[in-house]
Amino acid sequence: MLLPRLEDLGDLTGRSVLVRTDFNVPLRDGEIVDDLRIRAALPTLRFLVDAGANVTACTHLGRPKGAYDPAYSVDPVRRKLAEWVPEVELLDNLRFNPGETANDPEFVAELIAGHDVYVNDAFGASHRAHASIVGPPAQLPSAAGRLLAREVEVLSGLLDRPRRPFVAVMGGAKVSDKLAVIEALLDKVDSLIVGGGMCFTFLKAKGHAVGASLCEDDMVETCRRLLDGPKPIHLPYDLTALGPGGRLFEPDAGGEVRQIGASVPDGWSGVDIGPGSAAAFGDVIHEAGTVLWNGPMGVFEDPRFAGGTGAVARAMAETRAFTVVGGGDSAAAAKLFGVDRDMDHVSTGGGASLELIERGDLPGLEALRGAPNVA
Ligand code: AMP
Repeated sequence: MLLPRLEDLGDLTGRSVLVRTDFNVPLRDGEIVDDLRIRAALPTLRFLVDAGANVTACTHLGRPKGAYDPAYSVDPVRRKLAEWVPEVELLDNLRFNPGETANDPEFVAELIAGHDVYVNDAFGASHRAHASIVGPPAQLPSAAGRLLAREVEVLSGLLDRPRRPFVAVMGGAKVSDKLAVIEALLDKVDSLIVGGGMCFTFLKAKGHAVGASLCEDDMVETCRRLLDGPKPIHLPYDLTALGPGGRLFEPDAGGEVRQIGASVPDGWSGVDIGPGSAAAFGDVIHEAGTVLWNGPMGVFEDPRFAGGTGAVARAMAETRAFTVVGGGDSAAAAKLFGVDRDMDHVSTGGGASLELIERGDLPGLEALRGAPNVA
């Protein structure tokens, strides 16, 4: 996919550049918990500053309701930028203005006023047709920043010419959330591994009892159809389950934790894949040429049920395959298990990476390809 690059913008000396970044970082008590997204934008910001441009960055942060809200102030991000690239100015949280999510032309005009050039480096927001993503490139010469270009190169390269066998590892809570992406992936991969809460709908489709585990009954037929398809789908054959009365995140609440087979007794919940399945999934990952991972294998936020996700994370770190982590919870898990740096690519955009896999394009990329310097 050909996107205009920073180099295509010509001489930037003295020009005013508006950069849409994705500084939607997790905050706790006003402090940044993980600054990956800020670090990831630095190559683009430094390139522009070094090229002599006057750089203004803009981002959304959290979900304020279209009005100023101190809880979503970008000041913590400003403090980081002041340390790392003090030349860059940062506008207020874009979502303080209702025109951002509504893609209001008036807000677009306000954003681009005084700017000569637009750069999109906000991969994690490029699946949204919001004002700051699709508005400026319709009017200003535009380019993809380094981070956006790299994300698109890795993810579209993965789908177009993966080293085989290509294995996708899917987990997380719900099949329904990821059904479209699972279907798109089944066209591309050699096999699919399914863990996490979503495996129970597949296990039910194979005739297993699921007890009190997460299960979407209205998706059982769909899962059966996918299981009957030509591509192998690996499901867990053992599970770690929490017994009646037990509660997640409350080990003192009682309730037994036990390793069981693939059928879950009444009153019990499957909350992680078992050690046998974790090892089997690890073997598939070790033998792969390419692995794409999206979604935890269990409720990894509770240490009692983190084993399966940890095993997959370690297998991803050890395999010689080209490894890509599709953002969101799996990126957090890779970091938790200390293997994020061992991955070939950790996407900064969970929703955006899934939509790019599913649709092969994003509103923000379409907009860049239609910019006046390209068209
Ligand atoms: P998602 O946002 O769909 O990727 O889902 C991630 C969430 O799924 C994580 O917070 C996990 O705790 C949760 N999850 C993973 N496995 C299970 C499971 N077996 N039962 C319930 N929730 C799960």
